[in-house]
Amino acid sequence: MRQKRAKAYRKLMALYSMSFGFRQPYQVLIDSEMCKMAISQNIDFVKQLGIVLQGMVKPMITQCCIHELYLQGKAQQPAVDLAKMFERRKCNHKEAIAGDDCVSSVIGDTNKHRYVVATQSQPLRVKLRSIPGVPILHVNRSVMILEPPSDTTLRAKALVESEALNPSTSEAAKLKAAAPAPPEPPKKRKGPKGPNPLSVKKKKKVADQQPATKSKDKDKGKAKATPKVIQSPAETNAVVGEKRKRGNDDEPVDGGREEKDAHSGRKRRRKRKGTTAAEPSDPPSIS
Ligand SMILES: [Zn+2]
Repeated sequence: MRQKRAKAYRKLMALYSMSFGFRQPYQVLIDSEMCKMAISQNIDFVKQLGIVLQGMVKPMITQCCIHELYLQGKAQQPAVDLAKMFERRKCNHKEAIAGDDCVSSVIGDTNKHRYVVATQSQPLRVKLRSIPGVPILHVNRSVMILEPPSDTTLRAKALVESEALNPSTSEAAKLKAAAPAPPEPPKKRKGPKGPNPLSVKKKKKVADQQPATKSKDKDKGKAKATPKVIQSPAETNAVVGEKRKRGNDDEPVDGGREEKDAHSGRKRRRKRKGTTAAEPSDPPSIS
């Protein structure tokens, strides 16, 4: 047997041992066709079983299977002789039934006695693949082959492993009670922490200036005055005059002038424009 295949079989039998409780000596159920094949292919059957399963083996045959061989007469005497060497498995079938049916009845739904089955019957092999944890052997061109695990077997293995890893429902409940509640994730602020620091600075400026509206206006006047000084001294004087008026009144821009120019709305507007825009032509008109 090639090393690669030997390794694969060793791993496979380890799977059956770990997940399904198979132990040496492995009990191998052998059907009548397999006995005949062993004789016709001149296989040292028991030795081959030990090599493939990589351990001690206990070859077995059911009463019904050996009965099948008896029925085939003298021609199958060597196969009968081989079968007689095996341990007889009582199947309790009062009247012998077909070998396949007998083997599948012995295996049952769960293969609770952990048999390995050596059979040449294709339908029986298909049937056994649907039962978890049944190693299946067959002979192909005088080579004994251990089938790869069936999907059912692999699913059962995964289930066993998950049960071993995960706590049961009662255990999970206990764990849940013991474990502290996970801390709530901190809430994310949607907006910025506070007002923009730049905006705060601006507000401070406004707050400083607001109570002293008059002084602001004065400043305005001064700001206006500086460029106007360059233009003409008369204009600067006029601006100063305005400033004085404003200093006296709460509403410096409109109040004083409104009284003066109450009769004409247009004029008033013009003068207001003049104060805001500080057109050089306005101050002379006031004076
Ligand atoms: Zn039987």
